[in-house]
Amino acid sequence: MKKYLLPKGLPFYKANLHCHSTASDGEFTPEELKAAYQAKGYSIIAYTDHEVMVPHTELNDDHFLALSGYETEIMSDYPLDSSFKYRQTCHICLIAPEPDARQVYWTNVYVTKMLRDKHPELVATYADVPDTKRVFSPEGISDLMQTARRNGFFVTYNHPYWSLVDYKMLSAYHGMHALEIYNHGCAMGGYDEYDPQLMDAMLRGGQRVYFVAADDNHGSRSRFGGWCMICAEKLEYRAVMNALHSGHFYASTGPQIKELWFEDGQLHISCSPAAKIVASFGIRKKVCIRKEDCDLTEAVIPVDKNDIYVRVTVWDEAHEHADTNAYFTEDLFA
Ligand SMILES: [Zn+2]
Ligand SMILES: [Zn+2]
Repeated sequence: MKKYLLPKGLPFYKANLHCHSTASDGEFTPEELKAAYQAKGYSIIAYTDHEVMVPHTELNDDHFLALSGYETEIMSDYPLDSSFKYRQTCHICLIAPEPDARQVYWTNVYVTKMLRDKHPELVATYADVPDTKRVFSPEGISDLMQTARRNGFFVTYNHPYWSLVDYKMLSAYHGMHALEIYNHGCAMGGYDEYDPQLMDAMLRGGQRVYFVAADDNHGSRSRFGGWCMICAEKLEYRAVMNALHSGHFYASTGPQIKELWFEDGQLHISCSPAAKIVASFGIRKKVCIRKEDCDLTEAVIPVDKNDIYVRVTVWDEAHEHADTNAYFTEDLFA
């Protein structure tokens, strides 16, 4: 029997899950972002301004959904006298289970004049809330992520390269749903913010994380470069959050994945015209299918019970990539 890994027959919605607006340090208003992203085929933006979650339900219509979120930070405090560029940090996007959920981490210093002017009721809600204590340690960071998780948030760990973080540190953080495997803003700034080795190391280390690609756009330079295609029943808040929590999406900088299913020990994928399709299994084994004229649109990939998992990357002629989530063999063969 076919196991559909991206639910069959449901629509895909193009989503930018990491986005900054004028509610923090972004150049564009939420309305301008909606218009610009819709013109590029997006249906979903998670507004993830720094430290402040502003719901934008007024932007929702039949063709657009605003997810409420924010990006929170824990920065290393060592060495204390060093400037920002020397300090390791941890940025996490938290996407709320419902539009007006309460923030789990709060810092008053991020309440800007714009917020006081435009969202006084929101600022008033947190007026007496003390800043959440932040500790840059595996325990402190895991505690943040697990607290958010317990409160229903979808937790993504952002741009590890820019944050000066390596696998050893990352593997000690527990509680993320997803790892940002492509961050367009950082990539435009010159960081190699696409790291398949890190993905496999996390999975092999036993962390069942999903993978997202996102813009992290602050201005016009870092838009429309990395996105997720979310396979959901409908364009409604709860349906989309369910799809995220279920891993019913893939990350892309270009190629499209149309179908993905597992049957009789084989993974089937169909996609937009590709130059190569590469499967990774968590062990010293790869499957790489190439076509010189770059018109590969499907592949059948054998999976063995002794593989740890399977995940697939579709590469197109322009060297853009689409990445599936990882599917563990103990689930596929169950
Ligand atoms: Zn960030
Ligand atoms: Zn950001």
